[in-house]
Amino acid sequence: MSASGLGLWQVSGVQTDWHRSLAQAIRDPAELLRRLELGHMADRYSNGAASEFALLVPRSFLARMQIGDASDPLLRQVLPVDDELQPVSGFVVDAVSDASFRTAPGLLHKYSGRALMIAAGSCAVNCRYCFRRHYPYGDEPRRLDDWEPALAQLRADSSISELLLSGGDPLMLTDLRLSQLVDRVEDVPHLKRLRIHTRLPIVLPDRVTDELLRILKESRLTPVVVVHANHSNEVVADCADALRRLVRAGITVLNQSVLLRKVNDSVDALAGLSESLINLGVIPYYLHQLDRVAGAAHFEVDPAVGRRLIRELRARVPGYAVPRYVQEIAGEAHKTVIE
Ligand SMILES: *Cc1c(COP(=O)(O)O)cnc(C)c1O
Ligand code: SF4
Repeated sequence: MSASGLGLWQVSGVQTDWHRSLAQAIRDPAELLRRLELGHMADRYSNGAASEFALLVPRSFLARMQIGDASDPLLRQVLPVDDELQPVSGFVVDAVSDASFRTAPGLLHKYSGRALMIAAGSCAVNCRYCFRRHYPYGDEPRRLDDWEPALAQLRADSSISELLLSGGDPLMLTDLRLSQLVDRVEDVPHLKRLRIHTRLPIVLPDRVTDELLRILKESRLTPVVVVHANHSNEVVADCADALRRLVRAGITVLNQSVLLRKVNDSVDALAGLSESLINLGVIPYYLHQLDRVAGAAHFEVDPAVGRRLIRELRARVPGYAVPRYVQEIAGEAHKTVIE
């Protein structure tokens, strides 16, 4: 690729609001605790864990944490702690065998009819339980032309009707880069749907730009946006506004969560989240059993507890507000419902 091509791909032109918000994200655990008036609990965080997987928290997400609450469910998702450094047997680097399903650079093809593109290697937040926290993003395409082998693979397989953009977070791409990628994807005639798996509307709500809505609405492909919130305290304020804008633009918006110890492992927490989501027009899609990734063992909830929580949830909220409780079992033809 030429130097000028590289420039076009990397430079966004104007500095957008969301880039400014991203630049202002908190990266220092001590600062995070200070801002929450928890400065006296500096022993709560682990520099060792932070040096393995950095702390990253946008200010909008911080603003939704409760001041002075050391067990805040949002704080727990992002604060590096010593528990991450304890090796636990069964918790491994590639918990879902991504590597064996990579059919081209940046392309994973696990399930019938759907392929997944690792469209970006970074996120606006670093979730401590992330199942791709050890993913070798450095090996994946970065420039538009680097996607050619993946696009060729998509063109060659007419059984694929849906492309998922994932990552990392695909909305870390600028609107320009995203629209260039979508343009190329639209050229694959048998693709019908474009699904975007993103946590940015939750953690960096100003990423939901008018231009993003335009790209999604005007695409030939039917758009589906799958966001990722784990607790009702996440889907308030500017985040609620961003979700409403997506929904009112006519886009199907689904949510997936991970069942996380001391974050959402109670029926009250799950019911609160489901209620908040459906009030905004967002449908709870999946509740994932934690993938057993190294460093995340302290978040695991026993599946027997998860099954009980889902049963109790079903007695509390409308049927369409009950997510499917699933686990990714390597080698299965779909995510496995474990209720
Ligand atoms: C989860 C996943 C999908 C999507 O699965 P759905 O059950 O359709 O949500 C597709 N590809 C890969 C590689 C996945 O991990
Ligand atoms: S936003 Fe998703 S991919 Fe990014 S760190 Fe969190 S869980 Fe992982």
